Amino acid sequence: MDYLPVFLRIADAPVLVVGGGRVAARKIEWLLKARARVTVVAPELLPELTERVRRGELSCLPRPFEPAQLARVRLVVAASDDPQANAAVSCAARERQIPVNVVDSAELSTFIFPAIIDRSPLVVAVSSAGAAPVLARRVREHIEALLPARLGALARFLGARRAAVAAALGALARRAFWERIVGGRAASQLLAGDEASAGRTFAAELAAARLAAGAATGQAAPGEVYLIGAGPGDPDLLTLRALQLLQQADVILHDRLVPESILERARRDAERIFVGKETGDHAQQSRINDLLVELARAGKRVARLKGGDPFIFGRGGEEAQVLAAHGIPYRVVPGITAALGAAAGSGIPLTHRRLAHSVTFVSGHAALEDTLDWRALARTHQTVVFYMGVAQLPRIVARLRAAGANAELPAAIVAQATLATERVLRAPLAAIATLALREQVAAPALLIVGEVTALCATGALAGILGGGGLEAVA
Ligand code: SAH
Repeated sequence: MDYLPVFLRIADAPVLVVGGGRVAARKIEWLLKARARVTVVAPELLPELTERVRRGELSCLPRPFEPAQLARVRLVVAASDDPQANAAVSCAARERQIPVNVVDSAELSTFIFPAIIDRSPLVVAVSSAGAAPVLARRVREHIEALLPARLGALARFLGARRAAVAAALGALARRAFWERIVGGRAASQLLAGDEASAGRTFAAELAAARLAAGAATGQAAPGEVYLIGAGPGDPDLLTLRALQLLQQADVILHDRLVPESILERARRDAERIFVGKETGDHAQQSRINDLLVELARAGKRVARLKGGDPFIFGRGGEEAQVLAAHGIPYRVVPGITAALGAAAGSGIPLTHRRLAHSVTFVSGHAALEDTLDWRALARTHQTVVFYMGVAQLPRIVARLRAAGANAELPAAIVAQATLATERVLRAPLAAIATLALREQVAAPALLIVGEVTALCATGALAGILGGGGLEAVA
């Protein structure tokens, strides 16, 4: 390690910045955030710096750098665009043993500015010791994506309660209490923006912890459940919130649609439970419901990770009802549903000003029942997306045809949307089932019916403007 990472208290201390351009302005920004008393040495200043001088936020010496300006200064930044001047600043500062940063020169610097994530009072600083600043910035972006926007508010909330906790609990109980709080209900209420509830939850948990500290056994604080949509498969299509909660969860219940590459984004030490269902195994859903309740009651934070969106053919609604009925707190995190992933991947717009004025998501299982209005689904100027329909393709096509859909109505099958193995098959409605069979389409796959499916990447209407007979176009 070439540099010691420390956080320096610099409030009210005199700091000299040499240079009045864009780079200097960026450093000044951070220095002012840390409430340093900044003097900028530069014959010319950017307008925004001039404005800050006018407002009294910093002072300016409108002349070249001289070593005498370093008297009593605690930190120096050389950010002019003249390398010789910067070197002179570095030399003078080092002679006086004042820490100095020279932009773009690790050799001339005795300290460096890290890439910073500011959720004050929580701050993350990343450095590559000057070796690869762009890489350090990339790492910062990765970490930033993991940190909820309200993390600073959470840190303040916890900070304001430190003294009360110290007074109420002994050192050992205190540690366990903070662990529980940071990963628990109060924290997630606060991160969701509900400070009042967070305050109440915190107070109740502190009271319970105080009681438990007296008694031999404490009851575990209730856990909570996150019903998380994992998107269609590509891990980059996870939402930031999904990622954040995956990092918090103690246990992850996942099913077949969630690939390993997404599970890898979860906390390393989280327990994983596979709860994939065989088609038609209705008992499995009630086992999942029981498990969710049981784990949450044991105080766990449980992520129920589902393909796509939990509320689109994901049985998220049923799980939410069960949790509510048992008084278990839960949050729902939306995910990109398969139809949207498939649309983006295949270049099929689900709506189109001329071709499709509505889009309907239909369960292919329903083709076996009589709950659907097939006449409505067979009308023109719309897009119909069938989930879980691959096994039912001939039946779906027959019902649409019987309800009046044209044999030549364009259709497409998108399999393994957004994954490296994604495939798009296009054919007129009357030929799509045969094509799928011939091409041995593997689940998961969607059937999309409607004129938009004839739009190919170039924007041409393959089936409508061209001949587009019953020949299958894969
Ligand atoms: N909740 C999920 C849907 C679950 S139902 C969502 O919102 O996407 C399961 C069906 O979703 C599968 O039978 C298939 O039709 C569809 N599906 C899920 N992932 C898919 C993918 N990557 N590509 C194509 N279809 C997919």
